[in-house]
Amino acid sequence: MTSRDMLVGGGATLRLEDALRRVLDGWSALPAEEVGPDEALGQVLAAPVVASTSLPPWDNSAMDGYAVRSADVAHASPGTPVRLRVLGEVAAGHVPPRAVTPGSALRIMTGAMVPEGSDSIVPVEDTDAPPGVAELPGVVGIRAPAPPGANVRSAGEDVRSGALVLAAGRLVGPAAIALAAAAGAARVSVHRRPRVGILATGDELMPAGTPLPPARIHDSNTPALLAQARASGAVATSFGIAPDEPASLRERLATAVAESDVVVLSGGVSVGAHDHVRDAFSSLGTVDFWRVAIQPGKPLAFGRTLAGRAGDRTDPDRPVALFGLPGNPVSAFVTFELFVRPLLRLLLGEQPREGVPGARRRVRGTLTEAVSKAPGRRAFLRVRVETDPSRPDGLVVRPAGAQGSHVLSALAAADGLAIVPEELPGLPAGGEVDVLMLEGEGA
Ligand code: AMP
Ligand code: MG
Repeated sequence: MTSRDMLVGGGATLRLEDALRRVLDGWSALPAEEVGPDEALGQVLAAPVVASTSLPPWDNSAMDGYAVRSADVAHASPGTPVRLRVLGEVAAGHVPPRAVTPGSALRIMTGAMVPEGSDSIVPVEDTDAPPGVAELPGVVGIRAPAPPGANVRSAGEDVRSGALVLAAGRLVGPAAIALAAAAGAARVSVHRRPRVGILATGDELMPAGTPLPPARIHDSNTPALLAQARASGAVATSFGIAPDEPASLRERLATAVAESDVVVLSGGVSVGAHDHVRDAFSSLGTVDFWRVAIQPGKPLAFGRTLAGRAGDRTDPDRPVALFGLPGNPVSAFVTFELFVRPLLRLLLGEQPREGVPGARRRVRGTLTEAVSKAPGRRAFLRVRVETDPSRPDGLVVRPAGAQGSHVLSALAAADGLAIVPEELPGLPAGGEVDVLMLEGEGA
């Protein structure tokens, strides 16, 4: 990129879609790694998972009861119970002690192997044996028939050994983890998690949890951005708080770049006398743009560099994304949502939905009150989405509080971001509005 390109690219105020396209351009999913199924939560499979065992692996009982021969009990009824000799018991995790022969039964527990000779299970409720008693009866009265296969979970009925159970590209959630583990996978191949470095800037900031001297505030962006990065599937690390001083900011930024795939700064990105983030980006790499027509979050810098520029000798050509988010906590939160999360999901290998990896579910509802916004910018309003008492499948959208970009209480009260288009001055009460749902973020 020439310095003229940088000027042009860096100077314009971009529409959201154009800015997002520039952020996402040129990246691909990170290399694959092998991890235990439970570690893969939120990652995307780089290779399919193939069952190394059938599910169930062998015929087993779906009930606590008696393993019988179906022919023996075909005419059983409460009035004319069929009496069978009880030859022993088979519990889950134990091999049956013997086969079932005509006129006999084995007591069996849920999940235990169906013994040789037996083709059906009579639930204990359909016998005269009291349930939950440890002592084995010598004879059991069967009060109902159990046709062939009754209450038997047969080998391979869920999954056959060798079958593809999870396709490459699949997002791994708890259910996929259960299936992979049951089907015998010790490791699964997933795109590795991006490493995200978080760096706060501002002389006013004190680490969260420490006493506040005059004129200082707690750094809430670092804990919030760490949480957002982790909720997006990344491994996130804080690189502390940089003062509003160019040299130390550059130094901390370089440290973060050397150890990260994506570096997320907050604060110092606007046109204040002490805003040095864009200069720090330029000294280490590029600034692709720094203004987006959104509210909150208009000053938002994005740039790129290579790890080698920050002194990484082991992998100098590794590309690193640089985000300079606005300092106001709500702006930082919303711009992470809109720009950083999609890039993280792209790096994790997630396929785009509506053109955006990791796109949030959208719902449409009716505003409970009028809202206004800045002209020319797309607004993202903190709202609560509720079911409409007057329409069974309708939703109402209620502003969650004051919309200033410093108002964290309204962010914490919100479960969605309502989108008001650039060209509108606002929306009236009763107006229809799209909402991005902030699911899984503790909303
Ligand atoms: P700036 O973008 O640096 O001009 O900051 C805008 C506003 O956000 C100021 O009120 C800052 O004090 C506040 N701010 C900046 N960084 C943080 C942070 N890490 N945590 C909480 N507030 C912040
Ligand atoms: Mg600042």
